[in-house]
Amino acid sequence: MPDSLQYPFSDAPDPGSLIEVAPGIHWLRMPLPFALNHINLWLLEDADGWTLVDTGIGTEEVKGIWETLIAGPLSGQPIKRIIVTHFHPDHLGLAGWLSRRFDAPVLMTQLEYEQAVRLHDTSGNSRTEQQQRFFSSHGLGQTEVEEQSSSINVYRSRVPELPRGYQQLKDQDQIRIGSNCWQVIVGRGHSPEHMCLYCPELDVLIAGDQMLPTISPNISVTFMNPDSDPLSDYLASLKDLAKLPSSVKVLPAHGLVFYGLHQRVAALAEHHQDRLNLLLDACEKPKCAADVLSVLFNRTFGPHELFFAMGEAVAHLHHLVEDGLIQRQQDSQGVIRFLRMPI
Ligand SMILES: [Zn+2]
Repeated sequence: MPDSLQYPFSDAPDPGSLIEVAPGIHWLRMPLPFALNHINLWLLEDADGWTLVDTGIGTEEVKGIWETLIAGPLSGQPIKRIIVTHFHPDHLGLAGWLSRRFDAPVLMTQLEYEQAVRLHDTSGNSRTEQQQRFFSSHGLGQTEVEEQSSSINVYRSRVPELPRGYQQLKDQDQIRIGSNCWQVIVGRGHSPEHMCLYCPELDVLIAGDQMLPTISPNISVTFMNPDSDPLSDYLASLKDLAKLPSSVKVLPAHGLVFYGLHQRVAALAEHHQDRLNLLLDACEKPKCAADVLSVLFNRTFGPHELFFAMGEAVAHLHHLVEDGLIQRQQDSQGVIRFLRMPI
């Protein structure tokens, strides 16, 4: 299905340079120290300066690239406002630093700001304890559970400074940036209250992580909200995005700018349905989430990836529970198993 997408720019900008992707909208890219090795950010021409969407992870390397941008491509114009799509460190990481440097307000949705504060305040030991309990309950072996441990606050190491406050944006809010009006579209599932921005005049969608051209956004149940059903939220949010025109130019947080929103929505919905079907078959006999990793993924994982793989497995299982297709049972040791409902 990704082949049906069209990419108007064959290459992403080099670090420290900009590409104008629509009138007054500039693409920049920052490195990430993960398998997913980059994030796209967007600089929008505004009155007497720039509005920035997302900020990059809080490393010295990314700060250095910001210094290059500030010294050159930003043309001496200040960052006047910072919009953050969601709380993940690659998006929020340098918002506090940039906000203080430019005395620029940070605009976010309420749940994303609150989630960032909660993670910033959770010590490494407390997080480790909650995470290990969650993974043990889903059947992960003792060695792998013990690898899910950190004495430091990993979130804080990637988001070194939180913005001191924020201006709240809500679903359907309209904001004027430069000469254009942008509409806030809140999506759920990948994070609690993820913000996309749509500009009807330009027919451009800043999609954050809700809509990516070649990878499926991570939809995870985590220790923070262990009984949740984020996949139902995500699938509903996909339907909202599909109401936008098929002609829209999509600016994703990872990968290349693309056309083909409706095809991508269909491909992502199909991807999740395929996985749900596989899990339904696997749960003819009771299964823990750890047991079905091999059903969903044809590979093994290191500790960092395992966090996301387990989260994805539980998210799909909880969606099937919500649909009444499987039941969730917890034994006297606290281990959770899933079993297909009798037809
Ligand atoms: Zn994200």
